[in-house]
Amino acid sequence: MTARDLGVHIALAALYFAAGKLGLSLAFIHPSATAVWPPTGIALAALILMGRRFWPGIFAGAFIVNATTAGNAATSLGIAAGNTLEALLGAAVIERFAGGREAFDSPRRFFNFVLAGTVCPVISATMGTGSLWLGGFVPHAEFLSVWTTWWLGDVSGALLIAPLIILWANEPTLSWRPLQWFEAALILAATGAVAWIVFWNPPFFSLAYLSVPILVWTAFRFGRRETAVVLCLLLGLALGATLNGRGPFAADTPHHSLLRLQLFMAIIALTKMSLAIIIWRNLQVENALRRAHEELEERVRQRTQSLREKSLALERSNQDLREFAAAASHDLQEPLHKIANFIELFRQKYSGRIDAEADQIIGYVVDGASRMERLIRDLLNYSRVGQAELAMAPVDMNEALDQAESSLEISIRQCGGRVTRDLLPKVLANETHMVQLFQNLVGNAIKFRAEQAPLVHVSARHRNGEWIFSVSDNGIGIEPKYAERIFGIFQRLHPRSRYGGTGIGLALCRKILERHGGKIWVESEPGKGSTFRFTLPFSGSSPAGSRALAPASPSPDAGR
Ligand code: ADP
Repeated sequence: MTARDLGVHIALAALYFAAGKLGLSLAFIHPSATAVWPPTGIALAALILMGRRFWPGIFAGAFIVNATTAGNAATSLGIAAGNTLEALLGAAVIERFAGGREAFDSPRRFFNFVLAGTVCPVISATMGTGSLWLGGFVPHAEFLSVWTTWWLGDVSGALLIAPLIILWANEPTLSWRPLQWFEAALILAATGAVAWIVFWNPPFFSLAYLSVPILVWTAFRFGRRETAVVLCLLLGLALGATLNGRGPFAADTPHHSLLRLQLFMAIIALTKMSLAIIIWRNLQVENALRRAHEELEERVRQRTQSLREKSLALERSNQDLREFAAAASHDLQEPLHKIANFIELFRQKYSGRIDAEADQIIGYVVDGASRMERLIRDLLNYSRVGQAELAMAPVDMNEALDQAESSLEISIRQCGGRVTRDLLPKVLANETHMVQLFQNLVGNAIKFRAEQAPLVHVSARHRNGEWIFSVSDNGIGIEPKYAERIFGIFQRLHPRSRYGGTGIGLALCRKILERHGGKIWVESEPGKGSTFRFTLPFSGSSPAGSRALAPASPSPDAGR
C-alpha cells in the first residue's frame, strides 16, 4: 500500500467517523440507530469514485464510531461489517447496472441507482440490528422499529449524499456568468426563506410542498449538481426545525418526526433529481443534434464547394480538349489534302510505268491517305457536335434520310442493297446532325451485311412524349454483350481488313442524340440482323405526310 493510499484510508475513516458521530447525535430510538445516516452516502460515493479497494477505511471508521457509542467490541465489529458490506455491494451493483460515476447521466441509470440505494441498506440494517440484538442491546420487542430506522437512515444517506458527492466530483468547476451568480444567490435566499416559512412557522405548517418550485427552478436553470445541493440544504434546514419540534413533520416523538421528514425528503429527492436528470439529458441531446446538424451543413457546404470547383475544372479541361481536337483536326486536314492530291497526281502519271511493286506501294499510300482523311473528318464532326449552340429547326426526317441515302448511293448500289421506310415525322432538331445520324446508321447497316443483299428499313413511332426511330437490317448482327460498348469512341468489333471504318460513327450518333435530349440503343441477334433505335423529343409538329404516324398509332416495329 502506498503512503497516498494509506492517507486516503485514514481520511476516509476520519470522515466516516465525523459524519457518523453527527448522525448518531440525532439518534433517539437507540444510541446506535439513527434516522439520519450520511456515512452511507459518503462510503458509497468514495468506493464508486476511488475504487472498492478502499473498503478498509470505511470499516475502520464504522468500527470506531460504534465502539465509542454503545454496545461492545463484538457488536461494533458486526455493525462495521454490515456498513462495509452495504457500501461494497452498493458500489458493485451501481457500477454494474447504473454506470458507476455516470449514474446520473440518464433516468434509467438513476432508477437503478435508487434501487441499489434502497435495497443495499437492508444488509447494514439487518447486520447492525442483529448484532445489537444478539449482544442483548436491543430488546426483542424493539427489533423492528430499530431495523426500520436504521434502514431509512441509510437510504436517505445513499439517495441524498452520494449524488451530491459524485456529481461535484465529476464536475468540480463553476463557469457561471455574473448573472448566473446572482441567480444562484437568489435561489439560496429563496431556499432559506421557504425553509424558514414552511419549517419554522406554525401558520404555514402544511406548506412543505413550497420547496418544490425552488428545486424545479434549480433543475431548469442550473443542473443536477446544483439540485443536489439545494436538496441537501433543504434537508439540513428542515432537520434543524424538526429537531426543535417545529414544522410540518413534528410528531409525538423526535424519532417519529425524523422518520416523517426522511420519507418526505427521500420522495422529493427522487422526483426532483429525476427531473434534473431528464432536463440535463434533454439538453445533451439537443446539443448533440445541433452539433450534428452544423457538422452536416458544413460538410454539405464543403462538398458542394469542391464539386463546383471540380465541375468548373472539368468544364475547362473539356473545353480545352474540344478546342484542341477541333484545331488539330482542322490543321491536319490541309497538309493531308495536299499529300492525297499529289499522290493521286503521281499515280495518274506513273501508274504502270515503273514496276508492279511501285504500283502496289502507291496503292497503299493512296489508301492510307484516304483513311486518314476519313478519320480526320469523323473526328472533326465528333468534336463539333459538342461545340456552340445548336441551330434547331423543324426537320422533315424523310428529307434527312433522302440526303443520307444519296450520299450512300454508290455503296448501296454496289452491294445490291435496298432501303425502305415508313413515312417519317418532322422533329425539332439540327438538320445536319439528323443527316449524319442516318448516314452512320444506314451506312453501318449496309457495311455490316451478311451473305445476302442488305435490306434496311427505317420507321418511327410515337410513345410517351417522344419519337422512337428504328433502323433495322438483316446483317451480321451484334452479340448482346457488345451492345453498350459499340457506342464508345474508337470501339470496333472487327478487323479493318474485313470492314473498314474509324470506330467513331456510333459515338457520334450518341453524342448527337444526347445533345437533342434523346438516346440510342441496339437490339440484335448475331446472324439475323440488328435494329438500332433512337429517341427524339416529340415537338408537337404534325407528322410529315401521313395520318398513320399520328402519335397514338401503334407500330408493328415496337421495341422496348
Ligand atoms: P465503324 O462503323 O467506323 O467501325 P461505328 O462506331 O459506326 O464504327 O460502329 C462500331 C462498331 O459497331 C462497328 O465496328 C461494328 O462492329 C458494330 N456495328 C455498328 N453497326 C452495326 C450493324 N448495323 N451491324 C452489325 N454491327 C454493327
